[in-house]
Amino acid sequence: MEEAIKVDRKHRKIGITPDMADRCYTCGTCGGGCPASGLVPVEGGEGAWDPRKAIRAIVFGMEQEVVDSKWPWVCTLCGRCQYQCPMGIQLMKTFRACRTARERGKVPGPIHKGTMMNLERGNNLGIPRDDFLFLLADLGKEVEDECCPGFYVPVDKEGANIIVTINSKEPFAEPDDMKFWWKIFYAAKEDWTVSSVNWEGVNWGLFSGDDPAWKEQVRRIIENARRLKVKTILYPE
Ligand code: SF4
Ligand code: SF4
Repeated sequence: MEEAIKVDRKHRKIGITPDMADRCYTCGTCGGGCPASGLVPVEGGEGAWDPRKAIRAIVFGMEQEVVDSKWPWVCTLCGRCQYQCPMGIQLMKTFRACRTARERGKVPGPIHKGTMMNLERGNNLGIPRDDFLFLLADLGKEVEDECCPGFYVPVDKEGANIIVTINSKEPFAEPDDMKFWWKIFYAAKEDWTVSSVNWEGVNWGLFSGDDPAWKEQVRRIIENARRLKVKTILYPE
């Protein structure tokens, strides 16, 4: 019951096996627990998108309409539909393939640009390394003064227990949010570290459907852990 969903990246097309049309018996179970059902209207059609409607459109050959619609982007890729489907249809995987099939210039929001920025500079918002390190030192001093004598942010510490990734939104716009984690680490006497490079913890390659970028970002995080001889990677996001 495992259909192959292939993405032709060159032509921005998804491919599904034809028998999916026979197997889906339109029961609607997939839509029952879907948090995205009914959120966006069908462009140029009637009613609103839900997973059953989207999968039926695809199996009836309206793949491009779904790829061009808002549906793959309001679908949260949570996977409930796929786990609930009595016929084992890979709905989530299909909807993510629709993201992959979208032309990169038409990916909504900042996630494609952020992915490219990450590949170039190691984080989604392009924060320079020196600015990042200055901020960690400055905020670390604040935490020390506030409540945690002797506290500092251990950057590139070899052999630590945990390596922590960071959402670039935090150093960029909400730096105090990082302090909550740091105070927990301090209270728990945790042995942790942050990498000075490629520290981004939000993988927009995953969200934008860009598999090579997704893989590369994961590879870099693992490389950081290996370089610093840390066994546990923490993704607070
Ligand atoms: S739950 Fe599965 S079989 Fe039922 S409508 Fe959805 S995709 Fe089709
Ligand atoms: S993966 Fe998408 S379509 Fe399926 S339940 Fe989650 S939000 Fe709905």
